[in-house]
Amino acid sequence: MQFARVVDVYEKIEATTKRLEMTELLVGLLRDTPRDDLDKVVYLTRGRVYPDYAGIELGLAEKMVMRVLAHATGLDDARITGLWKEKGDLGLVAQEAISARRQKPLESTPLTVSKVYQHLDAIARESGEGSQERKVRLLSELLGNATPREAKYIVRMVIGQMRLGVADMTIVDALAATFATRADRGRVERAYNVSSDLGEVARVLASKGIDGLNEIHLKLFRPIRAMLAERLETLEEIFERMGKAALEYKYDGLRVQAHISPKKIELFSRHLENITSQFPEIVEGLRNAVRGRAVIMEGEAVPVDPNTGEFLPFQEVSRRRGRKTDVERMSKEFPVTLFAFDCLLRGDEDLTSRPYTERRRALEAVIKPTDGIRHSTVRVTDDVKQAEAFFDEALQAGCEGLMAKALDSTYDAGARGYKWIKFKREYSAALSDTIDLVIVGAFAGRGKRAGSYGALLMAAYDDQDDLFRTTCKLGTGFDDETLFALPEKLKAAKRDRKPARVDSKLEPDVWFEPTTVLEVRGAELTVSPVHTAARGAIRPGAGLAIRFPRFTGRWRDDKGSEDATTTRELLEMYRQQLKQTKKGTSALA
Ligand code: AMP
Repeated sequence: MQFARVVDVYEKIEATTKRLEMTELLVGLLRDTPRDDLDKVVYLTRGRVYPDYAGIELGLAEKMVMRVLAHATGLDDARITGLWKEKGDLGLVAQEAISARRQKPLESTPLTVSKVYQHLDAIARESGEGSQERKVRLLSELLGNATPREAKYIVRMVIGQMRLGVADMTIVDALAATFATRADRGRVERAYNVSSDLGEVARVLASKGIDGLNEIHLKLFRPIRAMLAERLETLEEIFERMGKAALEYKYDGLRVQAHISPKKIELFSRHLENITSQFPEIVEGLRNAVRGRAVIMEGEAVPVDPNTGEFLPFQEVSRRRGRKTDVERMSKEFPVTLFAFDCLLRGDEDLTSRPYTERRRALEAVIKPTDGIRHSTVRVTDDVKQAEAFFDEALQAGCEGLMAKALDSTYDAGARGYKWIKFKREYSAALSDTIDLVIVGAFAGRGKRAGSYGALLMAAYDDQDDLFRTTCKLGTGFDDETLFALPEKLKAAKRDRKPARVDSKLEPDVWFEPTTVLEVRGAELTVSPVHTAARGAIRPGAGLAIRFPRFTGRWRDDKGSEDATTTRELLEMYRQQLKQTKKGTSALA
């Protein structure tokens, strides 16, 4: 098929904002597309050459494409840069540059879909030494034969910005309407959710029709689109909907889908990117923990601070995208623990259509927990009081809340529904100011911090009762020098027993008379059953805690301990920020 025909449709799609019209246009295109080109047209419409999970990216740098444009058209760099500044869309720059090109090709053959696809495929697959030059040559050749309109879309594909506004679900609609009826849409969507590959769905539909889709199954090393959760505000509502349910801790990390065979392990993110190389410790952990010849399981990866044993914000591992050596260093410094929560494939058995309870049993059978791989903590109940206590435990463990799962629920790939319901901390507020906290205790350091402290116990000042009430453990933000100077610096304040003015539920290894004030920055304030600051003000028995605290490096030697941030101030900040957060959310809604 001529590429110009596809481009015709793209231009019309781009001109409309109505989803129905887009679908109609796509249906027209798919009907005209010969069987052999179908998957290619589907991939190209998404601006790619493969399904996302294959990890084969076109994504050329814009600078490089500009160089190619100059080369392919004979226009000088300044002209191309000028056009780029004027238009802000490299596709339009290509269109204009090709129509203004100096050397018109002597003879050019019209581009076909398969020629465009082959070229883009070759560009995407080039790697290693000299690959940049080869990519440049391939793209230059392709643009040499392109009309201005064709060049516009080729360039957009190459830089990964199609700008068509066609969502995957619009392609699903169009495939259903083309090869079956609109009523079959659900089956097409399910095939896509299981295979994550619209090209494959198109191929099967074209060759075998709608019933052919029954052959699309869960497959090892091809990720399935993640099941998603709805949210409800109260536990009562959750039990009303579900009756007796499995409540699991809701960990705050990165969702990982692991595909495991005795020879190979691959990890995918929630967006189906292949992230295997970023988490060597998970791969290693799974190798030791998983029994079975073929397993697909899901879990949440959370970085753990080896000094405090507490969870860290996920940003601590997002820096892992860098070089291999960085990944290795980070995986030692902030190793993640994977909390496994579902099992989708075991041996030849696709478990996605089995009830939750059965999948959970399979999960527990295939994974033998280790330090780095654990089962998510779960409790089955229909009792609100028990659920509340369990929720408190989850917060105490550093989790975001609970995930309720219907006991008879199947795993619905790619779908958001009420079979899983999240129930998060009702009370949390972003914290923008720094606060000044008093050191009241310390926990002994381990590993690299042996001989010093791993974390300090920090308190705010309750000026009504003249007490120092705890609000966080602080283990981040210290350089080595500061860290190893701590025991000496705090020596004079060290006590064997809890000083009378300290109110704490936690038992540190060392106590300190509250004398020294540090400046701390935190991510948010949350209600916590572990800490005693402002206890009972928001919820009975629970205080306010600083989440993800970090020492700013500033010792407030200018402040006495009674000048530290007070618990009343914390409470006020909490209320203020909660109000703002709520306003922010409703403004967005
Ligand atoms: P949210 O991103 O707030 O919609 O919450 C859903 C996410 O919670 C999932 O995609 C998982 O990454 C994460 N999660 C954490 N713990 C669990 C769990 N026990 N079961 C399912 N998902 C979980």
